[in-house]
Amino acid sequence: MPDKKTASFMRSLCLGEIEEEIILPFPEPTAQERETLAAIAATLKAMLGPREKDFRAWDVAGEFPPSFIGELKDAGLFGLVVPEGHGGLGLGTAAYSRVVQELARYDGSVAVTVGAHSSIGMRGLLLFGTDEQRARFLPRLATGELVAAFCLTEPGAGSDAAGIRTTAVRDGDDWILNGEKLWITNGGFAEFFTVFAKTSLEGRGHITAFIVTRDLKGVSSGPHEDKMGIRASSTTTVTFEDVRVPATNVLGEVGKGFKVAMKILNAGRTGLGGGSVGGMKRLIEFASRHARERSQFGRPIASFETIRQKLGQMALDCYAAESVVNLVAGLVDRGYEELAVESAISKVLASEALWRTADEALQIAGGAGYMRELPYERALRDSRINRIFEGTNEILRLFIALAAVNDVVDELKDLPHSMKGVLADPVKGFGLLSDYAKRRASLAAGLPREKGRFTLVAGPLAEEAKAFEQQARELALAADRLLRRHGKKVVEAQLACRALADAMIDLFALAAILSRVSTRVEDHGEAAAAPDRAMLTAFTAQARRRIRRALASVDAPDEGGTLALGDRVLETARYAWE
Ligand SMILES: Cc1cc2nc3c(=O)[nH]c(=O)nc-3n(C[C@H](O)[C@H](O)[C@H](O)COP(=O)(O)OP(=O)(O)OC[C@H]3O[C@@H](n4cnc5c(N)ncnc54)[C@H](O)[C@@H]3O)c2cc1C
Repeated sequence: MPDKKTASFMRSLCLGEIEEEIILPFPEPTAQERETLAAIAATLKAMLGPREKDFRAWDVAGEFPPSFIGELKDAGLFGLVVPEGHGGLGLGTAAYSRVVQELARYDGSVAVTVGAHSSIGMRGLLLFGTDEQRARFLPRLATGELVAAFCLTEPGAGSDAAGIRTTAVRDGDDWILNGEKLWITNGGFAEFFTVFAKTSLEGRGHITAFIVTRDLKGVSSGPHEDKMGIRASSTTTVTFEDVRVPATNVLGEVGKGFKVAMKILNAGRTGLGGGSVGGMKRLIEFASRHARERSQFGRPIASFETIRQKLGQMALDCYAAESVVNLVAGLVDRGYEELAVESAISKVLASEALWRTADEALQIAGGAGYMRELPYERALRDSRINRIFEGTNEILRLFIALAAVNDVVDELKDLPHSMKGVLADPVKGFGLLSDYAKRRASLAAGLPREKGRFTLVAGPLAEEAKAFEQQARELALAADRLLRRHGKKVVEAQLACRALADAMIDLFALAAILSRVSTRVEDHGEAAAAPDRAMLTAFTAQARRRIRRALASVDAPDEGGTLALGDRVLETARYAWE
């Protein structure tokens, strides 16, 4: 069995190894979890179902009334992930992600408000808090007496989170905190902040995470931002002016705050993914209803191929996102710890699938979709943020690709100086490398690889499994070429990395769907699994084309020379072809 502390399906896949025990069987909720989720879904339906008009009004107003936040608290929605012992519902990652999915069926701002509290606002306390800190804060976080917010971004530090300028200077038993955080979700009314500050004034880094509560003198928030979407959710600056934070509020180790931030964001991504899936399901319902009811040219527009295909694609996108999000969340619940690549993939895939779905749903609704009276335009605006926050999709793609080649870089760190030229001349130096290189070399030589095969996939899916194995091998070879071509400079080869990431995203989705369908075949038989099988067939066909193209781009990423065109734009700061 794979080591749950270190095993990563995708990192192994980039070495041509299929660690099928990680993803098979597909994680499904237990009967008891299903029951709890059905009860929560029914409560949410009764509570949020009749509020569509309110959601529209609050979107225009740009905020929720405090009474509505009170209703969310009363419904227990701020205690979803707090352990039962501390007064919460104690939901696991998969169950929590499914609840966010349900919330997003009604309103994006509600999902973001609850998500910012549970997914990132208090996640640091759950992951790194001491027993004393957990006992002090979790019961009040569970009831919503304290709503939580996550404070990392600053005016000068967005994607480059290590560049933050907020400082914390030790003074006796306290730390004195100074700085301003930007675009903080729940910032207007949160009482509990997970704040990241520099605890050494030298250079970048040396960041520490702190728990800061609003009752501490010097904490204040700015006005609500006037946003494009998720308008009713609170987004504000949060300012810390000589705030005296007790040393007992340090989260994790002093100086290890960057790791804390990254772990929180990794863990939070299944919440965002769940929200994206819920948003898609709602849009599919709206769009299919509209397509059936709207007639043009004497027949329902649902009878036209173009519309039918759009709806099919939306469903396929949703199925892929749901498979990936549920797989990652299930792996967290099974105790796997090394899921940074997989959770980044789930965020990118789900947020982009939601964006396409929102766009196509609006298109199916035509001019009516553009009117504020119907939910499409709000859904489109609300969905856009998912590609930006919790790590932009560009940065996450780079991360996904670089993580794939990270192992070899790690190994190089320990090599004697004389061998460090290996990356500069990888072909010559390859033989000198360790086990890692040998595994790559055997891959390149086309040697049969014991670990490059599926053995646990249900028999009837043998063809699909074989196709996956072939593509996995091509992925590993492309990762190898990427490294050989760029050596240490691979970090700068952004377009090639992005192409590798695109292939990895599709392959992980394919693996998740294969696992889901295989488990369905095993548990319910081929006939019952036929609708799922149709999804696998469709995704396999589409992904094959995309993967082939992406892997070709790893070798020639700047198709047609758009980089130079971009340089020309930057040089002139305008469209220079008039
Ligand atoms: C509504 C909303 C809510 C938010 N909530 C929170 C919150 O609760 N807590 C919090 O801490 N933050 C929050 N944020 C901030 C959010 O996480 C950041 O906006 C995000 O991390 C991106 O940072 P940035 O906006 O500064 O963009 P930048 O980092 O300036 O990026 C601009 C563009 O450049 C690209 N880019 C940047 N660096 C590179 C690179 N090295 N290579 C290639 N491309 C690059 C990016 O992908 C992006 O397209 C929120 C933001 C919004 C809009």
